Amino acid sequence: MDYTATAWEIARAVRAGRMSAREVLDAFLERMSRVEGLSGRLLQPGEDPEALHRAHPGVHAFITPTLERARRQAEEVDRKVAAGQDPGPLAGVPITVKDILTVEGTRTTAGSRILYEYIAPYTATAIARLEAAGAVVLGKVNLDEFTFGSSGESTAYQPAPRNPWDLERVPGGSSSGSAAAVAAGMGPISIGTDTAGSIRQPAAFCGVVGLKPTYGRVSRYGLIAYASSYDTVGPLARSVTDAALALQIMAGPDPYDATAATRPVPDYLEIMRQGVQGLRIGLSPDMFRITYVDQETGQLVETRIDPEIEQAVYRAADVLADMGAAIVDGVPLPHLPYGIPVYFVVSRVEAASNLHRYDGVKYGFRTPEPVTDFWDMYRKTRGQGFGLQPKVRILMGMYVSAAQYSQRYYERALRVRTLIRQDFQRLFDPHGPYRLHLLLGPTTPTPAFRFGEVYGDTVLMQYMDQLLVAANHAGIPAVSVPAGLNEQGLPLSVQFMAPDFREDLLLRAAYAYEQFRGGPLPVAEPMPSREGGKKAGP
Ligand code: GLN
Repeated sequence: MDYTATAWEIARAVRAGRMSAREVLDAFLERMSRVEGLSGRLLQPGEDPEALHRAHPGVHAFITPTLERARRQAEEVDRKVAAGQDPGPLAGVPITVKDILTVEGTRTTAGSRILYEYIAPYTATAIARLEAAGAVVLGKVNLDEFTFGSSGESTAYQPAPRNPWDLERVPGGSSSGSAAAVAAGMGPISIGTDTAGSIRQPAAFCGVVGLKPTYGRVSRYGLIAYASSYDTVGPLARSVTDAALALQIMAGPDPYDATAATRPVPDYLEIMRQGVQGLRIGLSPDMFRITYVDQETGQLVETRIDPEIEQAVYRAADVLADMGAAIVDGVPLPHLPYGIPVYFVVSRVEAASNLHRYDGVKYGFRTPEPVTDFWDMYRKTRGQGFGLQPKVRILMGMYVSAAQYSQRYYERALRVRTLIRQDFQRLFDPHGPYRLHLLLGPTTPTPAFRFGEVYGDTVLMQYMDQLLVAANHAGIPAVSVPAGLNEQGLPLSVQFMAPDFREDLLLRAAYAYEQFRGGPLPVAEPMPSREGGKKAGP
């Protein structure tokens, strides 16, 4: 067993005593030493991220590896196996954690300078449950600062993560390190967060499965807040089975999070294998184009998505139809084009509010410069501690929620958010005209783009999320599943969306589709193997 094994395979072998957690850990540490390159760190004056990457080529998925902790956890699993106790359904499985979730005693940066020396005093509920199930945490992985981005480039910890399928391209974001680590064989599961696509988009760019649960399905306790009414915690994994396994363990009520749903958690792994016979799956023409405002002309412009991705979606529909699903083409999502403008307003208001707590007093960074009074300290700390994205989002959030503007922007956006949710309710209504169980569409309008290609254009970067953010507005679950590689060797993906708390339906369709494709994509080989030349996947 090596770094190409899935979580399911690893846990089975460790529980059966066929392999020790320590041996599994060693195999993954060896893999990390070969493909990680330089992990992200704060830039020194004059340092250039591109030069750092050239000097230490690799995936750069991590900010903080947690090797000591991982060793202790692996030893604990092995001790349990030796004592005849059950080490749990994730026994010895190496996982990584997006550095926006807290892990006790571990640095938690949110990808921001303002939290660079923050040591978390407790562990996020989702991670604590995985650890209790036998998972071994390899480390905290890189992300866009405070999850504000779709490419990973905005992190304060450089070099930023790279796409393991093509190191010149971005891994997507904001769960950049999560997707890159999983795709490159540095742990078969990573836990990310999705506020407007941050699990699904990097999963699509890196050719892994990314599941955004229903809002409230997984506790947010220990998640550093971005936009609290959208934030969700979910798995990125190479296989659908591994995503289901992680969700199974993380989901459920939590006394520390009043918004964590108390609904019982179904047996996803069991239901997942039921197939798609009899399911009604919708396709919407509104999912095959993105609509945005041209900044020069102010006109609404429409662009079709990448034709290869469109074909992949239609091929997936054919496959599911062959398996017994009913495909309903032409279903309307009339408010989809408003998803990004609405998100731009609502998320910024929540972000500005949540970012107030970084004041240089309670945690993390404080300006090293001399200060005259509290306000001077506060201004300098925030001015030096925050990168561009938090600053821009605070400004916009303050503006659109100011007394004289909030009716025009914030309250209006909230009303349109409700209309977007109603679009989905109409499609999923069991007594309505469509009676869908699922929607199928693309995850992203394009495959992974190159470094620097979109970065700096905050508006264009955000429009990459148009097909993703609707699920966050509606609160519904969605999953991105790999659909093979294009001619350039870049991953393509399709996305399923389901009604509230119907992750079971998502997993049934995703699993059936993955089976049809012959299983997960192989681990990407970003680096020449030791023998020289490129090593083929398993
Ligand atoms: N691209 C989105 C943004 O920049 C990502 C949000 C998210 O899901 N965290 O806001």
